[in-house]
Amino acid sequence: MVLVGVVPFGQNLMIDMKNDAVTQLERQVDVLIIGGGVGGLTLAQWLTGLGRSWCLLERESHLGGPLATSEYVLKWIPGQAQISGRDYLAAMVAQIDPANCELQTQLSAVKVGTDLSLGDFACTLSNGDSLRAKKLVFACGATPFSPFTESERVIVGPGLQKIAHIAAGQRVAVLGGGDNAADHALILAEMGAVVTMLVRGQLRVSAALMQQLRQNAAIVIRTGCQNIELNANAESVLVQGERYDYAAVYFGYQVSQQLNAFPELKTAAGALQAGVFAIGDMTEPVFPNILLTQGQAAVVAKQIDFELSRDAS
Ligand SMILES: Cc1cc2nc3c(=O)[nH]c(=O)nc-3n(C[C@H](O)[C@H](O)[C@H](O)COP(=O)(O)OP(=O)(O)OC[C@H]3O[C@@H](n4cnc5c(N)ncnc54)[C@H](O)[C@@H]3O)c2cc1C
Repeated sequence: MVLVGVVPFGQNLMIDMKNDAVTQLERQVDVLIIGGGVGGLTLAQWLTGLGRSWCLLERESHLGGPLATSEYVLKWIPGQAQISGRDYLAAMVAQIDPANCELQTQLSAVKVGTDLSLGDFACTLSNGDSLRAKKLVFACGATPFSPFTESERVIVGPGLQKIAHIAAGQRVAVLGGGDNAADHALILAEMGAVVTMLVRGQLRVSAALMQQLRQNAAIVIRTGCQNIELNANAESVLVQGERYDYAAVYFGYQVSQQLNAFPELKTAAGALQAGVFAIGDMTEPVFPNILLTQGQAAVVAKQIDFELSRDAS
């Protein structure tokens, strides 16, 4: 016989009963957070402040998502002039008090079910552990989209560390016509690279970047490039029949489809079930950014705190 009980988080007990009977006491937290980027970490900090327990699962070996390794100086964060994504994330992680909570890397949830008798979510983690949570929050972000496979010569998505090895004089085809493409074209030109921007339609960049592009004679801009063809080998890359040392693709983002792996967490109409939340880039914001993500995390933390207090009374 196997009896399953519930204890607070951190007390993962296996108690031998007489003969072959075993009682397994499952871990329980108020909130299971899936995704350890800006959104998940902000939520964790708010929940700690509100006195709620949480477990955060991050599938990569490091917390912080793509910003954690980014030396790009963040723009548009009031009060945080000249701080890199890496330093911003490091400060966030340092501020989190993990007492009664847990940050786990290289881990995710593989199975999630609602337990109507207990009114919570029964989760199986990728290491086989099980855990119960009263609320679930998905903060799985988005990944750069590219129809072309990332390789030694094909760079996909923003990040200074991805272009740092490009030398002055090397030819780079920048694919895309949005702010990321314009921003990186300008950085590459400053590094001395010979930059050609290939834009599918027209440029869609902010006025300030447009002005900088226009003033930069080192950047050639070709608009109306439909059906871009790209072939890469170890030495170079051929784009629209022209040879470059690198192609850098900035075609926007595709949001995480992680919630689709758990259809039981959605209603027939496609909305999230009660007790399940999504925050950050995976909510498909028109303009994804740190402030929106952190704001959503703060609002969801307050909402969860309210619901937990209400459910307990
Ligand atoms: C190079 C770069 C520069 C940027 N610069 C700025 C800027 O200057 N200003 C600004 O406002 N915004 C900037 N952004 C955008 C900003 O970083 C995002 O809007 C923000 O990070 C979104 O946070 P998030 O938590 O939703 O997603 P992310 O930060 O992407 O975090 C998602 C996390 O979830 C994890 N994950 C995914 N799936 C699973 C799973 N199944 N199980 C467990 N974990 C999972 C991922 O590994 C990742 O760690 C920049 C982005 C990049 C990449």
